[in-house]
Amino acid sequence: MKGMNDLANTSKDYQRKKLEIWLLSNTLELFALVFFLITGLSTGLRSSLESILNNHFAVFSLYLLIIAAAHFLLFSPFSYLRGYRLEKQYRLTNETFCNWLKDHSKMAAIGWTLGFAAIFCINFLLRHYPANWWSCAALLLWAGYVLLVQWMPIIILPFFFKIKPLENEELMKQISCLAAKAGIGISGVFEFNMSRKTKAANAAVVGLGSTRRILLADTLLSGFTNDEISAVIAHEMAHQKQRHMLKIIFINLIFLLSFFYVSDTILKWGVGAFRFKGLDDVAALPLLAIVFTIGSFILLPLINSFMRKMENEADDLSLRWCGNPDAFISMMQKLSDENLADPDPPPLLETFFYSHPSTGKRIAHAISFKHNNVQTNDSKY
Ligand SMILES: [Zn+2]
Repeated sequence: MKGMNDLANTSKDYQRKKLEIWLLSNTLELFALVFFLITGLSTGLRSSLESILNNHFAVFSLYLLIIAAAHFLLFSPFSYLRGYRLEKQYRLTNETFCNWLKDHSKMAAIGWTLGFAAIFCINFLLRHYPANWWSCAALLLWAGYVLLVQWMPIIILPFFFKIKPLENEELMKQISCLAAKAGIGISGVFEFNMSRKTKAANAAVVGLGSTRRILLADTLLSGFTNDEISAVIAHEMAHQKQRHMLKIIFINLIFLLSFFYVSDTILKWGVGAFRFKGLDDVAALPLLAIVFTIGSFILLPLINSFMRKMENEADDLSLRWCGNPDAFISMMQKLSDENLADPDPPPLLETFFYSHPSTGKRIAHAISFKHNNVQTNDSKY
């Protein structure tokens, strides 16, 4: 009992520290943006660049490059604390500092390349279509996002992990059986070496249509029974069956349209308030970033409550398809212990920050399923 209490306290400690770092870095980021904007540093930087370069694209690119470098220097310590130091302190990672640094730099490079492309397109639209740039920008970014969702796991994952076809034949049979039950076509099942980085286990059904495949972390394969792994996969298949990804994609479109509509109004106000040269002034980018940061924070509880509802539906289908609530419960317990999840977080934190119901609630759901569906347990494989 003492061991369990210790683990619960460690989990609460870990989650609290994680949240503190998140809050601190996001608050600082917001203050840095506001400071950069209202002190005139943003317009000052743009003017200095214009005095040495007389090409819009060159000014735009160099401005972004300087911001990206400053952001990397200023916020890498937070990434280090959150992504490496804390994980090491709580023995959640297997990674060496060098490997972490390599991955962190790769992530930053990929993030900024995609970010640069997006910001360049937005600036192009602001420059050439000032009247309806906002709807075009929303649609363009949305199309990019849909492409990323479909291709990211296939293109980006190999940058970080080695991926190979699943070798466990027994599990392969169970997965085919589950896929048939769920009525889902799968183009392949693969495992990847997540143990290189972390002790935490993970699995995903990724891609849409013909690119749909199942990815299983080697940490999941080595630490969980086939029945427990099946419960995880069934949960992921349930997301696909219920078309949760499509719902998220649709919500994203609404979010992007409203974000860019509000941005258009605020940018027009900003031209007078901050002496921007026009809507397409590169110096106005921090204002867009502020709108985006505040907008995302306001929407966070709404989006998370929607996500928790979908997670609950996926758990429910997983329990029905596998008919083995005990495997579901032991899987959930193992995952929770490995990730140092707080099984019973304060309600305000859960509302705001939890995209999944707490482990306590998910296990309670499985227990009540077990009591209500004793007779269906014979559908176990
Ligand atoms: Zn899920």
